[in-house]
Amino acid sequence: MGLNLTQKIIKEHLISGSMESQSDIEIAIDSTLTQDSTGTMVYLQLEALDIDKIKTKCSVAYVDHNMLQTGFENADDHLYIKTVAGKYGIHFSRPGNGICHQVHLERFAKPGWTLLGSDSHTPTAGGIGSLAIGAGGLDVAVAMSNATYSMVMPKVYNIVLKGKLNPPATAKDIILYILGKLSVKGGVGKVFEYSGEGVKTLSIPERATITNMGAELGATTSIFPSDERTLEFLKLQGREKDFVELKADDDAVYDESITIDLSKIVPMAACPHSPDNVKPISELEGTKITQVAIGSCTNSSYRDLTIAARILKGKKVHPDVSLVISPGSKQVLTKLSMSGALKDLIDCGARILECGCGPCIGMGQAPETNGVSLRTFNRNFEGRCGTKSAKVYLVSPETAAVSAIYGKITNPTILGEDVFKDIEEFSYVNDNMILTPEENPSKEVIKGPNIKPFPLNTPPGDIISKKVVLKVQDNITTDHIMPSGASLLPYRSNVPYLSNFCFSPIDPDFAKKCKENDGGFIVAGENYGQGSSREHAALAPLYLGIKAVFAKSFARIHKANLINSGIFPLIFKNPSDYDEINVFDEIEIKDIAGQLKNGNTIIAADKTLGKDIELVLDVTEREKEILLCGGYINYMKSRRGK
Ligand code: SF4
Repeated sequence: MGLNLTQKIIKEHLISGSMESQSDIEIAIDSTLTQDSTGTMVYLQLEALDIDKIKTKCSVAYVDHNMLQTGFENADDHLYIKTVAGKYGIHFSRPGNGICHQVHLERFAKPGWTLLGSDSHTPTAGGIGSLAIGAGGLDVAVAMSNATYSMVMPKVYNIVLKGKLNPPATAKDIILYILGKLSVKGGVGKVFEYSGEGVKTLSIPERATITNMGAELGATTSIFPSDERTLEFLKLQGREKDFVELKADDDAVYDESITIDLSKIVPMAACPHSPDNVKPISELEGTKITQVAIGSCTNSSYRDLTIAARILKGKKVHPDVSLVISPGSKQVLTKLSMSGALKDLIDCGARILECGCGPCIGMGQAPETNGVSLRTFNRNFEGRCGTKSAKVYLVSPETAAVSAIYGKITNPTILGEDVFKDIEEFSYVNDNMILTPEENPSKEVIKGPNIKPFPLNTPPGDIISKKVVLKVQDNITTDHIMPSGASLLPYRSNVPYLSNFCFSPIDPDFAKKCKENDGGFIVAGENYGQGSSREHAALAPLYLGIKAVFAKSFARIHKANLINSGIFPLIFKNPSDYDEINVFDEIEIKDIAGQLKNGNTIIAADKTLGKDIELVLDVTEREKEILLCGGYINYMKSRRGK
């Protein structure tokens, strides 16, 4: 039986586990990427892992998210990332060089390589044939330290493309069509693998638009074969030596499959407030708009911005519209200036932003109250643009550009055929904003006052004797545990400061109680830790000395974050014990390692109540070891014998 492309790459990188779908596997990681928003924590974790140099073949640290320097915090983060990158042998892409996914596709991604990135749109590199996966920061730090990653063997979903797009339909419309069909939950646990004769009609930037927004399907990743179009792209980048041909075997087997006829795709939009709320543009025509934003890691290639410039050439942006352009990379911006397309964009009245994420995460250019924004981006969740009342539509550059002229959602089918004539690509490469480890050999890691060391736990020891410092109800979210928001965001690399706000929506004295009692235990109801995957919701309690949470049940991702932090997630064997335990009860757990040798039950003595409480540790053997080491970083260090 033949293998599909995903299986081939995994097989080549398999370290342990079976290729059966849903089994636990460990694979070799060739490369990693980080962006600054998640990167500071990743590099604090890397430092805590206590290694000399990274073990991956190539790792890159980008600064593209938080580039506004309205205070010292972001600038300090950038300097920290630059110096830590130099110390460990990581490439550093300077602020202004571009968005991590666009630059990575141009300069680093290789067909057949594995890539792990601390950003959910890492699968963009699947457009060039990499197996590119977005992961938590700690996973990326560990991958840099030992070049491996543990995951579940995914199911592989085959999307067969036939025919050819008819302009003005674009690659963006293909992925919007798929999102409308399969929904934002349609890809969980799956890799979307593209095949069929329609593949060769798509360029690498077009394929990358599709794999980028595969993240919106909830997929593990998406991947295209590597073919003559891949070679063409790599030649333009001066990287033809990185080319290898890759495709599925003719008799490859897939878990699921659909066929899409590209000739039937029409211009579409994802309507507020979800990327799968998709409608054809023909049903939305005439909707008044106040902002158009072209760019982001989804649609800011040279081709995307050149077609926008062609449409806008000699025209004027509508008086009620603000048009902003965020080029994906310095390479793209330079090429636009060389071809003259930049002049056309400036002439029509566009506001040119620096190469970075910018408006995509509300870092500037938030629309006005009740504004309607048409964006070529990948997400339109309520409030993400920085204005809660704004309505964001996701569209192609063609639809965005023509709508900017008319001040309302406009179908690009009204444009004459000439606009869609082939765009001639040319080669221009200048990597002077990428510092190689050799050019940036920092010995000293510079940490401004806002950057504090990663908090490390310790193994549990013979007796854990602490008080219950908090008792909460069912359905506590990670937002309750560690609130986010604009005022706390600049402190993502300062866990000691953030911890002062831990549980503040429920008990503003929580941090004080922990400090007065030298840590403690938390008692909770059902579904503890639901909501966002925020790692800080485990790190802040770790910093405050929380040793275990006793709950009726846990949300999956938060439970994993607690384990990584060395905090025991313990489930009441008798849920009625929850009712009896009170805040400030003295609890003693003896010889937790010894108790776990005989199974997964732990006896905790409630000295205040004078009774034993039975708790269950529902984890894998590996997770048990992580907990007994005092967290994932200590576990990794013990495996290396450090
Ligand atoms: Fe994330 Fe937007 Fe930046 Fe892409 S452009 S990496 S989606 S913030």
